[in-house]
Parts: sequence; C-alpha cells; structure tokens
Amino acid sequence: MREISAGPRVLLRRLREMLAEALEPQERLDRIVREIAQNMVAEVCSLYILRSDSVLELYATEGLNPNAVHLAQLRLGQGLVGTIAASARPLSLSEAQEHPAFTYLPETGEEIYHSFLGVPVLRAGRTLGVLVVQNRTKRHYREDEVEALETVAMVIAEMIAMGDLARLTRPGIELDLRRSVSLKGLAFNEGIGLGHVVLHEPRIVVTNLFNEDSDQETERLEAALSSLRLSIDDMLSRRDVAFEGEHRAVLEAYRMFANDRGWVRRLEEAVRNGLTAEAAVEKVQSDMRARMMHMTDPYLRERMSDFDDLANRLLRQLMGGGPDALSEAVPKDAVIVARSMGAAELLDYPRERLRGLVLEDGAPTSHIVIVARAIGLPTVGEVKGAVSMSENGDAIVVDGEDGQVHLRPQPDIEAAYAEKVRFRARRQQHYRALREKPSVTKDGIPVDLLMNAGLAVDLPQLAQSGAAGIGLFRTELQFMVALTFPRAEAQERLYREVLDAASGKPVTFRTVDIGGDKVLPYFKGAQHEENPALGWRAIRLTLDRPGLLRTQIRALLKAAGGRELRLMLPMVTEIDEVHRAREIIDREVRHLSRFAHHLPTRLKLGTMIEVPSLLWQLDELMQAVDFVSVGSNDLFQFVTATDRGNTRLSDRFDPLSVPFLRLLRQIVQAGQAANKPVTLCGELAGRPISAMALLGIGYRSISMAAASIGPVKAMVCELPLGELTERMDKALANHGAKTDIRAELTAFAKEHGLSF
Ligand code: PEP
Ligand code: MG
Repeated sequence: MREISAGPRVLLRRLREMLAEALEPQERLDRIVREIAQNMVAEVCSLYILRSDSVLELYATEGLNPNAVHLAQLRLGQGLVGTIAASARPLSLSEAQEHPAFTYLPETGEEIYHSFLGVPVLRAGRTLGVLVVQNRTKRHYREDEVEALETVAMVIAEMIAMGDLARLTRPGIELDLRRSVSLKGLAFNEGIGLGHVVLHEPRIVVTNLFNEDSDQETERLEAALSSLRLSIDDMLSRRDVAFEGEHRAVLEAYRMFANDRGWVRRLEEAVRNGLTAEAAVEKVQSDMRARMMHMTDPYLRERMSDFDDLANRLLRQLMGGGPDALSEAVPKDAVIVARSMGAAELLDYPRERLRGLVLEDGAPTSHIVIVARAIGLPTVGEVKGAVSMSENGDAIVVDGEDGQVHLRPQPDIEAAYAEKVRFRARRQQHYRALREKPSVTKDGIPVDLLMNAGLAVDLPQLAQSGAAGIGLFRTELQFMVALTFPRAEAQERLYREVLDAASGKPVTFRTVDIGGDKVLPYFKGAQHEENPALGWRAIRLTLDRPGLLRTQIRALLKAAGGRELRLMLPMVTEIDEVHRAREIIDREVRHLSRFAHHLPTRLKLGTMIEVPSLLWQLDELMQAVDFVSVGSNDLFQFVTATDRGNTRLSDRFDPLSVPFLRLLRQIVQAGQAANKPVTLCGELAGRPISAMALLGIGYRSISMAAASIGPVKAMVCELPLGELTERMDKALANHGAKTDIRAELTAFAKEHGLSF
C-alpha cells in the first residue's frame, strides 16, 4: 500500500512546487499536465474546463495535438469527457472507442490511444472540469490510480476557484464557477434584497492541502474523528430538551455516519495519498456531494445535508476554530444564505447591514421567518442547493415577491431589480410623508391604524410607521425564539421596554397563544395532536397550566406600574374562560398590592374573536369584556373549514365575500350596541382593498403589520367613506348569491382614483 501511494505523494509535492512558482497561468497548466502524465506513466494528460455555456473546453494537454488547446470543445453530456462532467463520476476504460458515448475529435489526434481514465474536477460538489489520462496500450487503471487522479483534480479545482484561469478565458466567455444561476424557492417575506452573499456557516476553506508526513497526519485524523464521535455521544447522552425529537434523530444519523467504515476508509486513503486531514475531508465530501446531487430521493438528499454538517464539524475539530473564529466581516449589503438557522442567530447580525435572507429549509411559520418578517427582511425559503452554489461575496438578488433567488445575476437582471428597489423606495418616501398626517378619511372620519408586534426588534417601527399604537402584541414570539421558557424577569423586561417605546400610545398585550402551529420545542406538556389548530392551545392551555399564565400576568402588571394595561385573551370559545382568567388576574393584582407594588392605573381586559362559537354569544361577551379584537386569520379558517397554512387552499375562498363580511359586520354592530370598542387584527387589515372593505362595514380601528400602515393610510386619506358604506350596505343586502364584492370594491377604488 505504501509503495502504491508513493506516486501521488511525489506528484502532490511537485504540484505544490509548481503552484508556488511565479508562472504564467497557461505555462503552469502545461507543466501540471506534463507532470501528471509522467507520474502516472501515461502518454496523454488533458484538462477540460466547464464554461458557463455548458461547454467543456480543452485548456491544456500533454500528448494530444497542442494546437487543439482552447479549440477542442464538447458539450456537457457529449463524449466521454462530457459524460464524466454530467455524471460527476470517474470513468475508467481499457478500450475507450468501444464506449457508446465516445466522440472522436479529429483536431486532437487521440485515435491512437486506447485506454482512458477521466475524473471530474469537483469543488463543493460542483463540477468545474474534467481531468483525463490516456494510454496507447489497453490497460486497466487501478483503484489507487483513480484515487490519485481525483486528488490531483482537487488541487486543480482550488486553482480554478482562486481565479487563476480567468486570464486564459477568452473575452465574453465565463467559467461555470461564475455562472449566473436563478433558483426557485418560496416567497416567505416580501421585498427585494440586492447585495452580496454571506454564508451563515462559511464553508471552511482548506488552504493547506499537502501533508508532510502521512503517518502523523493519519493520527491527527483519527484523533479528530474520535473527539467528533465523543462529542456526538455526549450530546446524545445529555437529557437536554434541546436535543429531543428531530434534533435527536439528526444526532443519531450523525453518530451512524461518524462510524461509517466506508467514509472513514476514504478519508484515510486520501491522507495516505498526501493530503492533509482537512483536505481529505473536503475531497471525500465533495465526491460524495457530487454523487448524491443527482439523486432525487428526498431522504437521500437530506442525508447528504447531514453528511455536510458532519464534515463541517470534523473540519472545525481539525482546524481548532469555532464558527465565530471563522465568520468574516459582514458587508454593508449582506444577504444571509443558510441551510437553516435559529432566530436568535439572525439577530446577532448587524441589522442595518442585512438586505435579505435565503434558506434551504424553513417554513413560513418557522421562528427564523417570523423574526425576518419582524425586521422587514426579504426572505425566500426552500431554495435547494443555495448554500453549495454560492460563495461568500457573490452578488445576489432575493425576490421575496416571486420567491426567486438570482446568484451572480447578469447585468440586465440586476439593473431591472435595482429599478424595482428604487420604485419601492419612492413609494416608501410617499408613505413616510404621510406619517405625520392624521389618519382621517376624505369625508372627515377618523380611523385608528395600529400595528402588530411581538419582539423588541419591532419597536422602532412604531415611530417609523406612524402607527397610533400596538393593536396586537403577540407575547408568544418571545417564547418561540427562546431556547427555554423565558424567566419572569425577562418577560417583565420586554413588556417594560414595549411600554416605554410606546410612550403613552395604547398597547394591547395578548397572553401567550402557544400550541397549534406555534410549537415550543422545550415545552414538555404538549403531546402529538391530530388537529393542532383545534387542539390544546392558547387560553385552553394556559387555564390548565395557571402557573404559566400567573407568571405572565404578574410580569405584565409589574411592567405596567403607573400606566394603563390592556390585556387580551386568545382563542376564547366560551365566556366562562374570560371569568376564569379574570379570577387569576384579580388574584395577582391582590398579591402585588399586598406587597405594595406599583400597579397599573387602569386595567382593561378583552378577548380575541377567533372561534365561531362566540358569534352566538356576542351580547354576553360584550358585557364580560372591555374590548374585543377580531382575529380574522383564525376566524376565517374555522368559519370556512380551511387550514390557514395550506397553500393549496389559500386562494380558494375569499374573505371578501358576502357571508364573511356580513359576519364581521355583525361583530362590529354588537360592539356599537354595547358601546365596546372593536378592532380587527388579522392579515385582512393589512391589505388596502380589504382594509377598505372593513371600513365600509363599520370598522374604525384596525391593526396590521407595520409595513402595511403606509399603504393603508394612503388609501384612508383618499377614501369617501360615506359613499363606500352605502355601496357596501347594498352589496351585502343583495340576496343574489353571485355578488362579487372584490370586483365591487375594485370598481369603487377606480371610480375614486384610489390606487393600490
Ligand atoms: C388571527 O388569528 O387573526 C390573529 C391575529 O392571531 P394569530 O395570527 O397570531 O393566530
Ligand atoms: Mg389567531
């Protein structure tokens, strides 16, 4: 074994010398292919590079006609070289011309060679070219020779990635590494982001490729592997809630891979061939990624990601730096590209430098996406391949409207998006100009425009958007982005911060609405439910776990000392729940006053209207509360029996329809009759056309995402509300089932020059 691998070791040493020499790029390549041919006792060695137009161009050769360099070309998938590039797998043949894919290129003069060995030039799983050796005799290339050529190909990949070959490329032609790619994902958060890639977990760049002593290097590798295994075992043995469920399954897969004989054998072999342990990890990983890239089985692709993570851990182990030591300075226009990341990690980045977020995983309701939305970051999720296709510093466009990501965009694409960004900025300027204007309709009717919030990062928006207050503060978000239950002090601190930021504007805090799709991984009490939206959630859960509610109420009462406190209960189904919650609140008030705490000057208690059963007890409800707020997201889902997260159904039923608007009107009328304020705080309030419908049926207070305040206010200021109310009354009284309210509203907007 030693003797066989002496060959590649000598070759790698020679390559290292050549890389260090001051040579012109073409001369360097020529010498490299000559050296490989000599070392491998082959008559031919050729290097083909993949261009962005999917053509493989001959860049250097020893043995073939030198005049064919930069002229001989094959398409991806064409001939043996094209087949290797397309499949990302080596090809070893003793009679090349018998292979069905063989294509004869007369300019090369290769007909006299029979045996053929070609390997892909890979980097991070992407094919950058093909390296070939050929012999006149019909010979079989041994396994170790294939390995050796793959190792050399890895060195060439680094040369390409470092831009060494750019000077050899004819004007107008680009190498595949720099190719523009457009990737399709799902739009998670609207907006357009233009900037430069920051890989959240930067691919570790292995610069030290060649080892001095393979025995010593093998020992280093073994040591790193054992500590990697130990750290995984350690995590698995901890009874830590952070490692339960999904996390546990992933760790178990890691443990299996870390002990995978094939993986370890390939690593050892690469080290014996002369690579450092780090370079060996990268090589094996790159081969594996290239092979698995072509698999369509989602399970196997997921396993590939696990292997990637594991390889990165091993590299960190070997290089001795944590992720912080490796993170680079964040540019002024950073677009974070990550496989997945925690919400708190996003907040670690300097917010003013972030322009967008691209995730390979993630769901619209995941915590990271909630936070990205809160800070107004254009986000596209489910973008498969984003991490391996990008390099730190690549230009990138994130289109949070269409769910597209353009990597290294062509100038015309970039220009089109820059124009879109300018257009949006102009619109924003118009909205900012409206900020100080009172929110009053054209015919003089005041309308309260409030914002929804849930995290401290939302607070600056209160002043920036010109909102009249916070109509819905979703307190569960603090719980969702935390790793364990937030302590009472942390809750109190946040609530105090919110009230300070509001400086007298009203804030409505909703008690925790956890359960359903808002899952806390550390919350042990929850069990699997068939229908979580209809399950043990929100007020149901907190009444069963009064300790949780009591802690929160106490934190709120303390934070609001000397000010008004507005509390709202989520998912109320029957009025008795309000009475029971009120008892808990009263008890806390008594407790705090006994200890002479500074209490709120006034306490108002309200409920969300999200569960249809409340619609048949509106009069009683209004007597039991100080105010109500309609949660149109949940109310619509329950009234129409359509899961609010099911994209297949998302356009099927329209909330701007006769029955749903009649129902919403009934609620606002019940509030008027009882003299109790009614607000609506679901997504309906945030779109100008539906906000207009709400005003037309009697709502005078609505709460929405901060970014919607500008567009909605622009509509309000132009709206002849009296006229609209008449139109809506007529439309809703119409007993013809076919009344198209949306069309009716659009026509009204057009008639009155309302643009949205
Ligand atoms: C709603 O259901 O409309 C609502 C505002 O609450 P959430 O979206 O937090 O469920
Ligand atoms: Mg709700």
